[in-house]
Amino acid sequence: MIKLKNSNQLAKMKDSCKLTVEALYEGASIIAPGIALVEIDTRIRRYMEKHGATPSFLNYGGFPKSSCISVNDTVIHGIPGKQILKDGDIVSIDVGAYLNGFHGDCARTIPCGKISAEAERLIEVTRQSFFDGIATVRSGSRVGDISAAVQKTAEAAGFSVVREFVGHGVGEALHEDPSVPNYGTAGKGPRLYSGMTIAVEPMINAGRKEVYQLDDGWTVKTMDGSLSAHYENTIAVTEDGAVILTEL
Ligand code: MG
Repeated sequence: MIKLKNSNQLAKMKDSCKLTVEALYEGASIIAPGIALVEIDTRIRRYMEKHGATPSFLNYGGFPKSSCISVNDTVIHGIPGKQILKDGDIVSIDVGAYLNGFHGDCARTIPCGKISAEAERLIEVTRQSFFDGIATVRSGSRVGDISAAVQKTAEAAGFSVVREFVGHGVGEALHEDPSVPNYGTAGKGPRLYSGMTIAVEPMINAGRKEVYQLDDGWTVKTMDGSLSAHYENTIAVTEDGAVILTEL
């Protein structure tokens, strides 16, 4: 069931979303060769705790950390541990924060040191596909309009769209209806209405679209070993279009 938020609830979501993106960049600020992923995660958790929030992902379905950190060919749900970053890595950080009864959810892929031109292009196209997707949003538009726009941008650049994981409604629960795929057909799918809050999150692979999961039950990697990037914001649907809630 899709839950619409009233203005009071939207105000609370703005707070949780602001904290979410602040926590992400607090963690990202230490990205450098030689840093362990767990150090980034700890920084994110401490930032949330200091501001009275709870990490949405910690213990969610048994997930053991406060953020997902996915390096290079890891698409999503990487568990931040002892892995050390090296020059040229691309680092996808996905963060959720729960504050005053509402979740925020956002992700960015950030370079570690000097990255390849191809990696830079992948990150930029993934970001652009998000903005092309949300440019379609208005009260009465459809989820498929977002999906088709994201897919078009990604594939026009020669990249591919992950099918197994999708965006979602977000609010009192981390994952609410509707699902928001990053591929699909304009004019199809559930309608969007003012008061909906959704996480739009393209996951784009430099190579083929196929992915597999490690036997840790979480980490998702590209089948062909190619790089993958992630860009996510929680947005509110308004009469005038999408408003990004997880923006600094
Ligand atoms: Mg999400």
